[in-house]
Amino acid sequence: MMNDNCIFCKIAAGEIPSYTVYEDDDFKAFMDISPASKGHTILIPKKHADNLYELDETVASKLLPVAKKIATALKTELQCEGLNLLQNNGEIAGQTVFHFHMHLIPRYEGDQVVVKWVQEKYEGEPLDQLSARIKKHI
Ligand code: AMP
Ligand code: ZN
Repeated sequence: MMNDNCIFCKIAAGEIPSYTVYEDDDFKAFMDISPASKGHTILIPKKHADNLYELDETVASKLLPVAKKIATALKTELQCEGLNLLQNNGEIAGQTVFHFHMHLIPRYEGDQVVVKWVQEKYEGEPLDQLSARIKKHI
């Protein structure tokens, strides 16, 4: 359940302090220590999972309603104009803490947040083939 070397497990257990904005039996949400924008919040399940693939199904099913509550609180209190929900899996995707977490990043006019990819004309594997290959695993 608890991973001794995991900083977010320690935050979940209250062994490392955090500026908590929400807590219930399954989740904790706290201020990111190096925020991308004002109000940047991290939402974690208390039970350790390295990433999305390892996340317990029941916990996963409860996650979005909690994210919605926090997003609504951020919007109400900070009057942000938008918000990005971001969740990184694996080093290549930018994950640095290997305990599943969701970022809630409030967005403001003129902020320094960049969530972007290059939209080029797609010339890879035809999408009918690609979708069929993925679909067979679901
Ligand atoms: P990621 O790159 O998706 O793994 O995000 C990890 C996030 O955790 C980063 O935005 C860090 O600033 C944040 N973080 C790391 N340690 C702490 C901490 N002790 N308290 C709050 N946020 C933290
Ligand atoms: Zn952990």
